[in-house]
Amino acid sequence: MDRQEAAIPARVESASTFDYATTLSAGGVSVGTVEHVLSAAFGEGLDNCSIELDGPEVPILDGSALPFVRLFHAAGFERLDVPVTRLSLSEPVEVSRDGRGVSFQPDGPGLTITYEIDFRHPVVGRQELTVAVRPEEYSSRIAPARTFGFAREVEALRSRGLARGGSLQNAVVLDESGILSGPLRFRDEFVRHKILDLIGDLALLGAVLDGHISARRAGHALHIEFARALAEAATSAPPQTASAAERPRRRATSRS
Ligand SMILES: [Zn+2]
Repeated sequence: MDRQEAAIPARVESASTFDYATTLSAGGVSVGTVEHVLSAAFGEGLDNCSIELDGPEVPILDGSALPFVRLFHAAGFERLDVPVTRLSLSEPVEVSRDGRGVSFQPDGPGLTITYEIDFRHPVVGRQELTVAVRPEEYSSRIAPARTFGFAREVEALRSRGLARGGSLQNAVVLDESGILSGPLRFRDEFVRHKILDLIGDLALLGAVLDGHISARRAGHALHIEFARALAEAATSAPPQTASAAERPRRRATSRS
């Protein structure tokens, strides 16, 4: 069907989560697996772009955000003389259940994320990492981290027509005791990818945020719930904008 005119805002109101990925829907049209391309945009400070897509989900490429980062850089960035939208939050925000959770603490300028995962698997185990969400840090430490999953889950998704791109070439695939897909890019690639995913879900706020976010054993459903809680907390506080000189908006200048 021709969906040429369909535009879906990358906003938390359009988001739902399904099978370990984030979907955006508006006007009866949906697009799946949006989190890696949106993570690349947010991580690189790109806050004004329109992404054209044919098909029901964003291509998985190598399972990381690095190909999108490279494409944005190939297109180039343009500074816009428009103030950036900034979420003003002076109080903590938290969502949690069953020992999983995501919380926000106001903590001066800039955004840092701490993520902790604990998988009962000999290669994964407990991993924790803190990163500052800045373009140079994002592109070197977070963007290359690939998605991961168990061989049995990939098969289950494929049997339902999802994760069509999923293979040993675009995910870290685990079996019960090891890795089926070759060497890791980082020893803690798993927790780095969780941070990548969380950044992609936070991009749906359509704003920058200052503070410290801590996530523990969360996933897309909890990330989106958390983003909604942040948006709700921000609407009860007065809006703030940074001056254009302080942090100009960036947009990619052309399609590559
Ligand atoms: Zn992911």
